[in-house]
Amino acid sequence: MQRLTNKVVLVSGAGSGIGKASAVRIAAEGGSVFCIDLNAEAVEATAGEIAANGGEATARVCDVSDEASVQKTVQACVERYSRLDGLVNMAGILRFDDTQELQTAHWQKVIDVNLTGTMFLCRSVLPHLVETQGSIVNAASTAALSGLPSGLAYSASKGGVLAMTRSIAVEYAKRGVRANCICPGDINTGMTDSISFPETMDFDLMPRIMSLTGAKAPEVVAGVIVMLVSEDGVHITGEDIRVDGGTLS
Ligand code: NAD
Repeated sequence: MQRLTNKVVLVSGAGSGIGKASAVRIAAEGGSVFCIDLNAEAVEATAGEIAANGGEATARVCDVSDEASVQKTVQACVERYSRLDGLVNMAGILRFDDTQELQTAHWQKVIDVNLTGTMFLCRSVLPHLVETQGSIVNAASTAALSGLPSGLAYSASKGGVLAMTRSIAVEYAKRGVRANCICPGDINTGMTDSISFPETMDFDLMPRIMSLTGAKAPEVVAGVIVMLVSEDGVHITGEDIRVDGGTLS
């Protein structure tokens, strides 16, 4: 399928996992991808892989929690491609802490990257998406929909992303911009490979975050993201789609 021919999509977190799989899939469907990530080597590798397969991609280092860095990045994307049709906001971090022991700095870091970083990007791209009648896909989580033991900061950040996305969807509906969330669960990525738990973690509660059908590769989420960004998602806005193998079913 070539659903994104002549479209330009900015993907955050494009160096790994769901962001990388989305960037690769967008390019495979004919789109130009502006790949951003904090990890320079990883984002260059994603853009290189896309180019090696005949796709169009640009790599840029950007810390999504840095307001100035985000503004310059969106400007660079529009200068490079003269338009912007989509934002796939996948940059994120996860940490588990015993809630009573949660340090304010750790709370703040998760909120800064997952929630404020998502907002910085949404805010910066919106004028361009109004011009192109574009679409945003943000990364929420099953943690936005159900309690995540020892995941206070992460679940708060993802609940915020979900609420923010609905607000954007309503505010911009008449201006032709759509905004949706995906709520992945149990996807094998760098994030899930590097989880560490506090000693007090109650593993009896872990099934609340485990898929019924086994963990899956990030490509299963990328396909849903591309549907939402493309014309196939034209009548979907303010929606959150679980891609969690039935965890919360
Ligand atoms: P990942 O760790 O594989 O990829 C995240 C990417 O974000 C990395 O390349 C990392 O370098 C980048 N990043 C981190 N901080 C950044 C910053 N400040 N600025 C720019 N880039 C930054 O993770 P993933 O599993 O692919 O997660 C993608 C999104 O999906 C995240 O928002 C995550 O919270 C969400 N999510 C994932 C799962 C899952 O099961 N993997 C479940 C629910 C939600």
